[in-house]
Amino acid sequence: MPLSTLQVALPVPLPGCFDYSLPPETPVPPRGTRVEVPFGKRTLVGVVHDHQPSNLKTLKSVKRVLDEAPIIDERLYALCEWAAGYYHHPLGEVLNFVLPTLLRQGQAARPDAEVRWRITDRGRHVAPDRLKRAPRQQEALALLAEHPDGLTPAMLEALSVSRPALQALRDKQWAEREEHLPQVPPLPADVLAEPALSASAEQRLAIEAINQASGFQPFLLDGVTGSGKTEVYLQAMAPVLAAGRQVLVLVPEIGLTPQTLRRFRQRFAVPVTVMHSGLNDRERLEAWLAAGDGRARIIIGTRSAVFTPLHAPGLIIVDEAHDGSLKQQDGFRYHARDLATWRARQWDIPVVHGSATPALETLHLAHTDRYHWLRLRGRAGGAALPEIELLDARDAAPDTPLLPPALTAIEDTVRRGEQALVFLNRRGFAPVILCRDCGWQAECPRCDSVMTWHRSLSQLRCHHCDHQQRVPRRCPQCGSSNLIDAGAGTEKLEALLSDHCLAPVVRIDRDTTRRKGSLDAKLAEIRAGAPAVLVGTQMLAKGHHFPRLSLVVITNLDAGFLSADFRGPEQAAQLLLQVAGRAGRKDLRGRVLLQSRHTDHHLVRLAAAGDYHALADTLLEERRLAGLPPFGHLALLRCEAMSMDKALAFLDECAAPFPQQTNIDDDSVNLLGPAPAPMEKRAGRYRAQLLLQARQRPALHRVLDALVRHARGLPSARHCRWHLDVDPTEM
Ligand code: ADP
Ligand code: ZN
Ligand code: ZN
Repeated sequence: MPLSTLQVALPVPLPGCFDYSLPPETPVPPRGTRVEVPFGKRTLVGVVHDHQPSNLKTLKSVKRVLDEAPIIDERLYALCEWAAGYYHHPLGEVLNFVLPTLLRQGQAARPDAEVRWRITDRGRHVAPDRLKRAPRQQEALALLAEHPDGLTPAMLEALSVSRPALQALRDKQWAEREEHLPQVPPLPADVLAEPALSASAEQRLAIEAINQASGFQPFLLDGVTGSGKTEVYLQAMAPVLAAGRQVLVLVPEIGLTPQTLRRFRQRFAVPVTVMHSGLNDRERLEAWLAAGDGRARIIIGTRSAVFTPLHAPGLIIVDEAHDGSLKQQDGFRYHARDLATWRARQWDIPVVHGSATPALETLHLAHTDRYHWLRLRGRAGGAALPEIELLDARDAAPDTPLLPPALTAIEDTVRRGEQALVFLNRRGFAPVILCRDCGWQAECPRCDSVMTWHRSLSQLRCHHCDHQQRVPRRCPQCGSSNLIDAGAGTEKLEALLSDHCLAPVVRIDRDTTRRKGSLDAKLAEIRAGAPAVLVGTQMLAKGHHFPRLSLVVITNLDAGFLSADFRGPEQAAQLLLQVAGRAGRKDLRGRVLLQSRHTDHHLVRLAAAGDYHALADTLLEERRLAGLPPFGHLALLRCEAMSMDKALAFLDECAAPFPQQTNIDDDSVNLLGPAPAPMEKRAGRYRAQLLLQARQRPALHRVLDALVRHARGLPSARHCRWHLDVDPTEM
């Protein structure tokens, strides 16, 4: 066999692949196969990219080929290659990101064997009285005899069969332990485990449109909160599943509640596999393998599930497609919403983006007929959309978290035996501690930010870098003991409402839901329906269905509407309507109160009118005039260094070869900055950024290619950390 050179993609922050020789007589492993190779002093697991016939003797040799067949199939490999190019991220790191941890570590890509205990022929002919003095064995043998198909470890445990007894039976050759690889279970004659609801006319139109799609077709399912989008997904999925094909469902991080899962599991008689960050390494590998070999028919996961290999894909659903958690904000910064559409095109299947408040990018694609626009304008089952009333907070004392009418409404609600929700997107007791005498404020020593007071923990915490310190007794600047807190977080609201109301107050935020299962327990308590007041952050905004909730009070969204970040108003409006949508979802009429100091602001007014589309049109027009997404394309080159000078100097050097454009056309790219980032210092590092803006993607990516190559070669790159964020969602 001639010698070959293998090109291997390695998990290192360097572009390109690395060459290795293949030991003689070793068959060339195909693309997508894992190999173990020496790299410096380490041994790394890499993925074969390509090979060439050659006999370079100077190359280091591959140590081991880990797979017989590719574990990253051709399609998935193509996605990784495309994403590595588009996001300008090293291919080896993308491939490594995609692999479950155990595969990254070189373990076998084999599912856990299924174990079954069975009775043997000899065991079947044992006379009952032979085990008289071993009752546990007698019992075990009897149970095995009753189950000719054998018993799994789980069944044995449920039946409390003793392990030693089984071993003893095995030693006597009356029982045997069988191991075999899991098989793809046959498709049930009817994939439905329960009948579908009778769809409304609007729902039926949407379901039919999705089912009539042949090959690739993107849909925007644009339906108000509670309009029954999930029912549309379920009914659109049924024929796909019945045809033996798989469905991939992407959900936001906090939308993957047991309630959501239950709806899918209850409807269909096929295996549902879940992929989220709570899985352990083994579970994650099992889910990945089950999706890849077709055992899993429905795969529900958070953003990284977009990289799951599928055996026979038939449909992709992106639920809450506007949600920010679909974009990864560190390392490999991809957008799962966009990759979902890319995969659907690659697989030649439909993709449904569902939302009550679609991202402006998606809405624009629907306006321009590139996405098929499906609308659900009314709530399912005839429930009415709540109206949003504005409460003018301008004259309120700055420290009043809830205005009197809001408090009264909350009291009335619980008195009627219903539930109220108070939304405040800020955890902790108070966002500021300050000295009355000299004006000192508790600031994070590592960030440009104040520290939040968490009273129950007697701590000050920075919400940006997690720095923690004790609450000082005296002002560190003037020694005064006249320290006060200002503003309110969810913890303060909880205390205030507990004093004020008779009903229990349930707080839901990151602090109260850290323990595994605590969020689900709280949600279940609320769904049980006893009168209660919920206080929470945006964890409460998504997908939840609380039948007894009739009042929503929203505070503190002004900052978003007035934000300098061009996405601020869009996100504030989405949050507002999503939270408002929790009210009145069953037969109770919903009421929503929005407390604002800017009740005259045109965007606040539009949002409060509940007309997301009117607001979106206004924002889209502003974006069009400014050449911002979706009418232009952005990338951010960010840099962190030990001083602002260093960070800015590096970005200056990066930008140097690219002259400022004067006339903006389809081929030009505007470089804006470098400038300090909105939060200049974070976790002890100074941050600066260079913004690139273009009318057309190809022009932008041409410049990005050159820019990244240039930046990698700069000596000053050693003194800072930098990364590129393509289509950034946080500025
Ligand atoms: P969305 O996902 O659009 O917010 P859901 O799918 O959660 O809405 O639906 C809201 C409620 O309406 C759910 O309780 C659901 O069971 C119910 N529902 C949906 N479609 C129908 C229908 N066609 N008939 C009766 N109830 C429906
Ligand atoms: Zn002071
Ligand atoms: Zn900090």
